[in-house]
This record gives sequence, structure tokens and C-alpha cells, in this order.
Amino acid sequence: MPKVPEVLAPRRKTRQIKVGSIGVGSNSQISVQSMTTTPTTDINGTLQQIAELTAAGCDIVRVAVPSQDDADVLHIIAKKSQIPVIADIHFQPRYIYAAIDAGCAAVRVNPGNIRQFDGNVGQIAKAAKDAGVSLRIGVNAGSLDRRLLQKYGKPTAEALVESAVWEASLFEEHDFHDFKISVKHNDPIVMTKAYRQLAAAGDWPLHLGVTEAGPAFQGTIKSATAFGILLSEGIGDTIRVSLSAPPVEEVKVGLQILQSLNLRERKLEIVSCPSCGRAQVDVYTLAEEVTKGLEGMTVPLRVAVMGCVVNGPGEAREADLGVASGNGKGQIFVKGEVIKTVPESEIVVTLIEEANRIADEMGHE
Ligand code: SF4
Repeated sequence: MPKVPEVLAPRRKTRQIKVGSIGVGSNSQISVQSMTTTPTTDINGTLQQIAELTAAGCDIVRVAVPSQDDADVLHIIAKKSQIPVIADIHFQPRYIYAAIDAGCAAVRVNPGNIRQFDGNVGQIAKAAKDAGVSLRIGVNAGSLDRRLLQKYGKPTAEALVESAVWEASLFEEHDFHDFKISVKHNDPIVMTKAYRQLAAAGDWPLHLGVTEAGPAFQGTIKSATAFGILLSEGIGDTIRVSLSAPPVEEVKVGLQILQSLNLRERKLEIVSCPSCGRAQVDVYTLAEEVTKGLEGMTVPLRVAVMGCVVNGPGEAREADLGVASGNGKGQIFVKGEVIKTVPESEIVVTLIEEANRIADEMGHE
């Protein structure tokens, strides 16, 4: 697990749980989750999407279980998925038992909308404990318990936390402790407040999420802002970035947030300048083409793409590999040394060649 950088508070101490092979809690690295968008009954489509998520670096995947037909195929998906599968259950307690029997690694339950949930807690706790399955108590602003909505008038941070803490206490009364909690809201400020309160109320591992965060651009910013605040305070053990975009994008954003905070090893990092009136090349296109050409590279590599000689040589020297452009040419730097100067038209291909060569030397691509 990477060392928490000094600029961040130490991880908040939590109890430790397992989601299949993945540990969740302060003794484990912060995991990245996403959720499939295929109908779960489309077994091949769902497994294909899980494979893509796995390749993108997703640690844990959640699948929706809105009907008996979905519950019926869970055993195939749980068995064939390369990463632990969480069944996402709303409304129907009987699907929780089906998911546990199917071999899912964990089940997400929503105390706001599972009918007769409270009366079922003892039985759910026993089934989960017997099978070694963990749970997530997933409170969501959009489906908050009606009693709490009436009490607070709207899904405030306090209302979300009260729902979660109440549900947690029911499981704990039945001596079941293997669960994490989420209190999601679409407003990063309310969400942040809720998680802070929840973090202070118990030692549960916390699953961070800004729910319904919006399309990719807005959702990325909202999630990065809220997660940045909470992770800097040591709060958060697993994260899911919710985007109205393909789930692989959620994983890329989640990993990038963790890498930006040095909570995960940085992989490919493009250091490119914003360009300005001094630029002697088209920096946007150059940065985009280099990013595209190196996509999927998993080595820790810092590549500088700089538009002119002001900061260009300096940044390029600091990177593993870089280009400082000027006068229709690019000076290519590797580990601080200029190795060649190429015409502008050859900058991209040269950088990609050199990046691959360095990756090969590092022995893992
Ligand atoms: Fe402008 Fe050069 Fe700085 Fe890029 S490196 S922003 S082109 S001064």
C-alpha cells in the first residue's frame, strides 16, 4: 500500500472487511469501484463490460439486480468475473439471499427502500455471516427513508447519516460487523458534510460517492472535489465516481484522483503546457496525440509535452521523457538528456517509440 503523503492526514482507522479478495478499510489500499450498465440478464454483455473494467484497473464491480431474472444469472456472473462482484439490491429482501447464494462477494442494500428491511436484518446478517459475504449499507439522497424525509424536510447530511447509523446499529445488534457504509448526495458539499459526520460516528469503512454527479465533465469535477477534501482528511476506503458516461471512464477518473493524491502509484502522466502566444507548435494536438498513442501503458512514466523553450527544456528534463518544441523542431529528452532533435512532424512518433523503449527496459508494459 503506498505511503500516505505528508500533505494528507493519515487514514482514519476503520474496521477491516473483505469484498471477495479485496480488503476494504484502513489496512488496505483505497479501492476503485464501478457499476455495469448492461442488463444483468445479458450475461455475455455484462461479463464483457466487467472484463473492460478490469482491464481499466477497476477493483470491484457492482451489478444491478432489479428482477428475479437478474438474480437467477448472478451465479454465472459472480463465477466468471475476474474481480469481486457486488449485487445491488433495492426493494426486495429476497434478492439479497439470492445474491448471497449465488456467490457474490458482497451485497449493497438500501435501507431507504427495502420493504420490511428492519424485520429482515437478523436473517440477512446470519445468511451473510454464514457465507462470508460483506454488505454495504448504501444510503442515497434520492431514496431516503420516508420517515427521515418527513423529519428533516429534505435529504440533509444529518438525515443521511441518521439513516445509515440506524441501519448499522440494527446489524450490529445482530452481531454482524462486516459492512461498509455510503451516504451519497449529488451535492459535493452536503456529501462531504455527511461523510465527515459518519466518519466521526463509528469505525465503519466508508465507500465514497457523489451520486448522480452528472455528465463526464461535471461529474469528474464534483467527485474529484469532494473526494479530494475527504481523502485529504483520511476519510474514504473505497470510491466510486458516478458519471453519465461509460463505466470505464468512471474507473479512469477514480484512479486518476487517487494517483493525483499519491494514494496510488502514478502511471502514465502527461505534463503538457497550456500553450500561449509563445507556442511554436500546436500543443493541444501534440498532447492529445501523445496521450492517445500511449493509452493503456501501465508503467510509471512522466512525459512532458511543452510548446516552447521558456519552460520546455526545464519540464522535459524533469520528466522521464519529453519534448521541448521550437522553430519547427522538437528536442527529445530522455532522463534529462537531449537524445535527438526531430522535425515537428516526427515528434509524436518519436515520443511513442521512446516511451515504448523505456517501458520495455522497465520490463513491464
Ligand atoms: Fe507558453 Fe512555452 Fe509555457 Fe507552453 S511552455 S505555456 S508555449 S511559455
